[in-house]
Amino acid sequence: MKVIIHGGFFSESANNENTKLAKQNALSAIVVQANTYLQTHTALETVVFAVSLLENNELFNAGFGSQIQSDGKVRLSAALMDGKTQRFSGVINIEEVKNPILVAEQLLAYDDRVLSGAGALNFARDNGFGYFNPFTQQRLIEYEAKLNQNNRKGTVGCVALDQDGNLASGTSTGGKGFEIPCRVSDSATTAGNFANHFAAISCTGVGEDIVSTGLATKIVTRVTDGWTLKKATEKSFAELKEIDGFAGIIGISASGEVYHFDSHPYMVWAAFDGSLQVFN
Ligand code: ASP
Repeated sequence: MKVIIHGGFFSESANNENTKLAKQNALSAIVVQANTYLQTHTALETVVFAVSLLENNELFNAGFGSQIQSDGKVRLSAALMDGKTQRFSGVINIEEVKNPILVAEQLLAYDDRVLSGAGALNFARDNGFGYFNPFTQQRLIEYEAKLNQNNRKGTVGCVALDQDGNLASGTSTGGKGFEIPCRVSDSATTAGNFANHFAAISCTGVGEDIVSTGLATKIVTRVTDGWTLKKATEKSFAELKEIDGFAGIIGISASGEVYHFDSHPYMVWAAFDGSLQVFN
């Protein structure tokens, strides 16, 4: 049983060190909770549990405390993939719900498993998800000052391997901040979140770079074809470099490799792999 979570790339602004420390502390606490949860739950259930805790923490750019798009609205995207059944579900640019990962979880049972915008919101309301305002004071200040154009503020993700050997991955984001309204992030695509019987990956970084390289799917495919997770990731990041891409991943393989890699050293993550590890 293993679990790894990430809090995306932290801000490169003046508050850098404090933000980093606060995120590390939050990640440590959440990965310990996720590991305890994993003892009695599946990888899929654990991923949903951990991502929802990360969404509830305003330090991260997912759920409560997400970044604001250029028209002043917060739109959330999240995806879930069950390696066991190889089903993928997600919501893209949903507004006014607290936990998009929980909406994605509900969608896993349906034929139509990825919904966007108003359709995603209607589905959520029909399934008992009430109104929630994800705006925080901090994000409004950043929005008004148009500060964060180039900052990577912390998408979240979780990958878990359970006692039955099943893998799952989940990713949730508020996007880039100040993007064209309804821009689609990588997070609720198979480029940003992918799992099968061999490996599971959650990405963060510039969504367009992650989509252009099909990053999560590509790494998992290489592991499926017999590569180690480390080698598969390194090769895929060499290809990302060809387009000067900006990304980071967390992953676990069925053989138990727990791995993190990033193109720029600003990603925060934590793993429970027998004992607690916290980085950056
Ligand atoms: N990948 C996310 C996006 O492009 C942002 C991030 O991970 O920081 O929307």
